[in-house]
Amino acid sequence: THFGYRTVPEESKESLVRGVFDSVASNYDLMNDAMSMGVHRLWKDEFVGLLRPGSKGPVRCIDVAGGTGDIALRMLDHAREKYADRETSVDVVDINAEMLRAGYVRFKKTMYHDTSQIAFHEANAQDLGQERFLSNSYDLYTIAFGIRNVTNIREALAEAYRVLKPGGTFACLEFNKVTNPILAQLYDQYSFSVIPMLGSILAGDRDSYQYLVESIRRFPSQWDFAKMIADAGFATGEHHSGNGGAWRDLWGGIACIHTGVKV
Ligand code: SAM
Repeated sequence: THFGYRTVPEESKESLVRGVFDSVASNYDLMNDAMSMGVHRLWKDEFVGLLRPGSKGPVRCIDVAGGTGDIALRMLDHAREKYADRETSVDVVDINAEMLRAGYVRFKKTMYHDTSQIAFHEANAQDLGQERFLSNSYDLYTIAFGIRNVTNIREALAEAYRVLKPGGTFACLEFNKVTNPILAQLYDQYSFSVIPMLGSILAGDRDSYQYLVESIRRFPSQWDFAKMIADAGFATGEHHSGNGGAWRDLWGGIACIHTGVKV
């Protein structure tokens, strides 16, 4: 059956998204590699490299929609390998307990397990909770391939702004709009036919992967999203060259990094 996701009312989107990630949690990392042909690793490396955690870089980090801890692990490795820094910490937050559990199990095999460097929390990006996540408490807020799943992006941005310290950085890695028409056409064919097919072959779940593709199409353009970040109170446009904007396109805009600084 096809769920007709385009017509799903806003209120039920959260439970829908939770269901999608419940069903994909166990083979999420494998599917990521299969669908992006490993490219998501390069993008995540570039993302973390740009943010430079460690020693002088961000100390207290929160990774929202952090899933199985892919970004968190890179952050901690970057700090340790580059600066022998074991002071950097990441709070991984996700709405989905299954994804968090997979992340927890994965971290058990690392040296960060059972240290103050890593913690997993179940919470909604739109309302992290004033008591659990204090205002002005983080140096860096990251969200990778997560914000397009959030029902109300403006609320999530307001929460990011709240929990960051003044001078702290907001950074988002997300699929975005491909501007080159030839690349856009190839990418469309790939994502609308190959990805749902891989979803059904490798995970036995075509609909969840169909949803993922459609959620990418509905996400605002680079320009519109940068505007939303600025509207939330962040200073943007300091870090990037080329387009003069507040973002850095990866692979022609298939993915994109947006940043902003809390002022
Ligand atoms: N950041 C990880 C990565 O890059 O591999 C995981 C990305 S995964 C595509 C998206 C994640 O967003 C899922 O783990 C999902 O449970 C989470 N998510 C969706 N809506 C959320 C919300 N409102 N609040 C927090 N997490 C959410």
